[in-house]
Amino acid sequence: MTGKKGELAGKVAVVTGGGRGIGRGVATQLAKAGAHVIVADVDAKIAKDTAEKLTEAYVRALPCVVNVTDEKSAASMVRLTLETFGRLDILVNNAGIMFRTRLMKVPLDEWENTIRVNLTGPFICTMAVLPTMKKQGFGRIVNISSSAGRSVSTLGGVHYTASKAGLLGLTRAVAKEAARFGITVNAVCPGLIDTPMVRETTTKDELRMFLSTLPISRIGAPEEIGDLVVFLCSEKSAYITGTSIDINGGGLMI
Ligand code: NDP
Repeated sequence: MTGKKGELAGKVAVVTGGGRGIGRGVATQLAKAGAHVIVADVDAKIAKDTAEKLTEAYVRALPCVVNVTDEKSAASMVRLTLETFGRLDILVNNAGIMFRTRLMKVPLDEWENTIRVNLTGPFICTMAVLPTMKKQGFGRIVNISSSAGRSVSTLGGVHYTASKAGLLGLTRAVAKEAARFGITVNAVCPGLIDTPMVRETTTKDELRMFLSTLPISRIGAPEEIGDLVVFLCSEKSAYITGTSIDINGGGLMI
């Protein structure tokens, strides 16, 4: 168990969509750094599996079934966290969905669903944790946006790009108002990362083609996103807020 003595020892982190993909990579690196992690996901089985693995390897983690688009569900996620660990220091808004539908064919319900999960979800979860973080005088919120939010999505449709750009706006606006409570809010903008979302929506040939255009011509690992999130949650990043950090193998240089 390396986690107990890490730089985030004693901290409590909620990771939405934490059961697989980037969320699981983030949860793992946070636990490795010593934080108790609430693995919050719509899928109960993967939440449980990930929490068990983290508990075995690092420090106590807890599964939690949550739908980030539902205020009551987000409220019970916070309640469970406080009942179990007595505090909540870190929120990683990671849960997200992506559709590849091209512009002329995007149905309104797909647009609304994407905005609801990718943008309204982080808003709902942020509102749910803010009172606790304010009371503690400390909080770290990290929003998982995308290179799509900084430019245009490689894979996703207009709804995906719009939701991820909106999340950067939410990051800045919350950062501005929450700083006086000791809360920092930042966004991470990954490029192509090796997750089920990418594997389920991309052919091997497409992937090879995308990766060949990158200066660092390989796919990113979820744990690499996790390492950046750990930095943004640590004391070393105390003066960083309202920003977005690119992590994309050089795929987007601006
Ligand atoms: P995955 O689909 O692999 O994992 C996302 C997880 O979030 C799944 O377990 C999913 O559950 C869960 N989830 C979906 N909707 C909700 C909801 N309403 N409430 C709670 N949990 C939910 O995705 P990735 O790991 O690839 O992506 C994670 C984040 O990173 C997303 O926000 C994505 O947009 C972003 N991102 C990913 C990149 C990549 O290349 N992979 C690049 C840039 C950004 P279920 O499967 O049951 O729906």
